[in-house]
Amino acid sequence: MNLNDLKLQIELIPESTMHLNLRNQFTSYQWRQFSQDIQRRDQYTCCICERVKGDTIDKLHCHELWTFDNQTQVQSLTGFQSLCFQCHMIKHIGFATMKDWVEKYQLIEHFCTVNQVSRKQYAQHFHEAVQLWIARNQIKWHVDLGDYIS
Ligand SMILES: [Zn+2]
Repeated sequence: MNLNDLKLQIELIPESTMHLNLRNQFTSYQWRQFSQDIQRRDQYTCCICERVKGDTIDKLHCHELWTFDNQTQVQSLTGFQSLCFQCHMIKHIGFATMKDWVEKYQLIEHFCTVNQVSRKQYAQHFHEAVQLWIARNQIKWHVDLGDYIS
């Protein structure tokens, strides 16, 4: 199995651009409104594990989608998706504050269930995601928020 084809992947944002996102350009009220629009578009369903808000999960998060071009050194915002708490925390697992190991264990279990992989494959994917993050940290990224900000 190619770990790059996993449904749920870890996506670590480079250190230098971690705070240069759309969310930080909005007030919390604006972001909540925006997030609700995205949830409505996504029919209140997690775009990765397909759990439905109000069914088995009580909340959805709005996740920003980015592409990274090493040649131009541009990090571009390309869209948004509604994610459940667990899928969203997996995306940013390097930065998630793990209150305890139980929480982290549950996230890894969720990763393995959604992707139908073993814990060993999770560890391999985590290692690859960290390597990619280290490589991306060497680049001085320019952030392009596209049409989402005026
Ligand atoms: Zn999910």
